[in-house]
Parts: sequence; C-alpha cells; structure tokens
Amino acid sequence: MDDVVIIGGGVIGLATAWRSLGRGLRVTVADPEPAAKASYVAAGMLTPVSELTYGEEALLHLGLASRDRYPAFVAELEEVSGRDTGFRGDGTLQVALDSDDLAVLGELRRYQESLGIPAETLTGRECRRMEPMLAPSVRGGLLAPADGSIDPRRLTAALLTAVERLGGTVVRERVAEVLTEDGRAAGVRLDGGDVVRAHQVVLAAGPWSQDVKGVPDGVLPPVRPVKGQVVRLRSATPFLGRCVRGLVRGSSVYLVPRADGEIVVGATQEEMGFDTTVTAGGVWELLRDARELLPGVTELEFAEVRAGLRPGSPDNAPVLGASALPGLLLATGHFRGGVLLAPVTGDVMAELLATGSMPEVARPFSPARFSE
Ligand code: FAD
Repeated sequence: MDDVVIIGGGVIGLATAWRSLGRGLRVTVADPEPAAKASYVAAGMLTPVSELTYGEEALLHLGLASRDRYPAFVAELEEVSGRDTGFRGDGTLQVALDSDDLAVLGELRRYQESLGIPAETLTGRECRRMEPMLAPSVRGGLLAPADGSIDPRRLTAALLTAVERLGGTVVRERVAEVLTEDGRAAGVRLDGGDVVRAHQVVLAAGPWSQDVKGVPDGVLPPVRPVKGQVVRLRSATPFLGRCVRGLVRGSSVYLVPRADGEIVVGATQEEMGFDTTVTAGGVWELLRDARELLPGVTELEFAEVRAGLRPGSPDNAPVLGASALPGLLLATGHFRGGVLLAPVTGDVMAELLATGSMPEVARPFSPARFSE
C-alpha cells in the first residue's frame, strides 16, 4: 500500500509528489495525460508583485513565499532531474501606453508601497532603455526587480523525471472514483477498474476537481474552468530582455521571453466552461495589443496558439489542505498562479502529508473557508 495517491499530474500534483517523495513517503500519481493541461499552456510568469490585485493580500504573501523559494527549488530539481527549467529571475517591467494606463500603474505603485513593497517608477525613455523594442508611445512603467519567469513545459518535464527518479509511480490513467473505508479516503479506483490503495489521497485535478466520484456531497471544492488563450511567437534574435506586462488603453497583455527565442503572448480570460476552442478574436486581441507595445512583434514567426483552463476558485486563491472527508487532502484552485505557487504548494502539502500539520503560510487557504 502507498502512503499517498495523487489525483492529477499537472504542476501542482507533480510538485506535491516530488516534495512528498523527498520526505520519504511512497507516492503514486494518477493522470491520463500528465503535464498536458493548464500547466502546458501557461506562460510561466512568476510575478506576485506585478500581478498584485486589490483585496488579494493573503494571496500576495503566499506568492512572495513561493517566488522566494524558486531559486533553491529549481537548483535542486535541475540537479535531481538533470533537466533545465528555463528559470529566470530577471524582473518584470510593467508599461503603460496612454495617460489613463499610467494612472492605473500609479495606483498600483501606491498600493504596493502601502504593503511595504518598494516599487521603481520609470519614464517612457527609461523603459525603452531597458527594452529598446518598446514603442515610442509607451508613457512610463514600473519595475518589479525580483519577479521572474520559468518555462512550465520544462518545469513539468523536470518534475516528472524527478518523481520517477525518486521512486514515485506515475500511472497514466484517469481516476474514476475515490474509495472510502470506515469513513475515510483509502485510495482510488482507476477507469480500467484497477485500485490504488493509499493512506492519504490528494486531489489535484485542476478544474476537473469537482468531477471525481465517490466523495460525499459538499466535500469537493467549488473550482471552475477559466479559459485562457495564448500565442507563442519565435524570434531568431534577442527581442526582449525580461517579461513585459502592458496596459493598452485599459486592456492587459504580457510577453514572456525564453532563452531559446520563444515569446509567449497572453492571455485572454473567458468564462466559457470547458471549451478550449482557439478563436480568431482571441488571437487578434492579443496580437493587436502586443503590437501597440512592441511594433516589431509582427515580424516574428507565429509558432503556436492554444487555449487552457485555469482552475478558478470563488476568491481566486488556491484551496489547500484537509477536506471534510478524513484522508482526502485538496491542492487545487490555483487559478492564474499555479506555476508561481508550485514550490510553496509542494512544500506545504508534503509537510501536511508527512506530519499532519499545516504550515502557517497556507492556513488562510483551507477548504473550510467555503463551508463556514
Ligand atoms: P492542470 O495543469 O490543469 O493539471 C490538472 C491535471 O489533472 C491534468 O493533467 C488532468 O489530466 C488531471 N486530471 C483531471 N481529472 C483527472 C482524473 N479524474 N484522474 C486523474 N487525473 C485527472 N500560472 C502562473 O503561475 N503563471 C503564469 O504565467 C500563468 N499563465 C497562464 C496562462 C494561461 C493561458 C493559463 C490557462 C494558465 C496560466 N497559469 C499561470 C495558471 C496555471 O497554469 C495553473 O494555475 C496551473 O497549471 C494549475 O495546475 P494544476 O496542476 O492544478 O492543473
């Protein structure tokens, strides 16, 4: 019998598996297509400061805790897996196109400062000195020097290798139901009928977390899919030095460069259920706004377009910890920030699985907040 079976092998399930193996637990991950859903589509920004949103201060602190863990997390992961993750800690530049956009950045700077996060304001000229491809019309910006990015495809490939190297089992099959025994979760039944028994079960199935059968009513978290379309471009010569997030007459766009020349342009945010159709309008809006900020974008190779489903909770924050069903733990609802939050999620879930105690940093994200 395993110590832990994890339902879902996206970045959250895999980070939880890797960290739990590091605590000496025996772990199985079940997923028909590991690392192929939101974690494959995501841009990989690690930007808790640049993405700060009013009313989400607890989430900011979780994001900062995770961002600060990233350098050591990737160093250890790259060593164990022998794979590069494309991690970059070279800052994020936020820029504004018109005076209204600049006013919004000014408000964000004041909010950041009120929370004790020093922000560096830049003129349009200073922004262009940092990123010469920016349009002359860019009015100004804000620099978050410690925000960064990672390539989620490389990250999840490294996590999969690390899980297998540390003796974890990855079963490429869907979980049909959670099995219960004496009122507690005792394992899972796979679609093909096989059973994986375990002392504890972790549900990390992203926006599908509500679909798993065998769990009493009211236990599964209220997580829904939030569609996002992203375009991948390719540049033969260096195009951007760091992640750029832009406000273009009130609409948001970001560009994330990778060392291999890929540039990810994202992302739409649409309430469309489980639809993952790529639309002409979605691609047009992204490229229109990207071109306003960086006119040279139209010269780049168009490499890929995809849509993914963010697992959104009612308060945009993850759902972490013990559920109302003993033995069933939840790690879902990471919405816009699952890549950023992977290190802290892996650590807190491993701690909870190994010791039964929830680290302080994750306590505000307990599933109980939705039943109270
Ligand atoms: P997923 O990656 O969706 O994984 C869930 C897994 O569960 C899947 O592999 C699925 O096959 C499996 N599964 C489902 N049902 C079952 C079942 N019954 N049995 C077994 N397995 C099952 N985050 C950032 O931090 N930075 C970003 O820049 C960023 N950009 C994004 C851009 C877009 C367009 C999108 C869509 C998301 C972005 N995100 C970003 C968010 C991030 O991708 C998610 O928060 C994160 O991937 C969630 O990880 P997950 O493992 O919970 O979900």
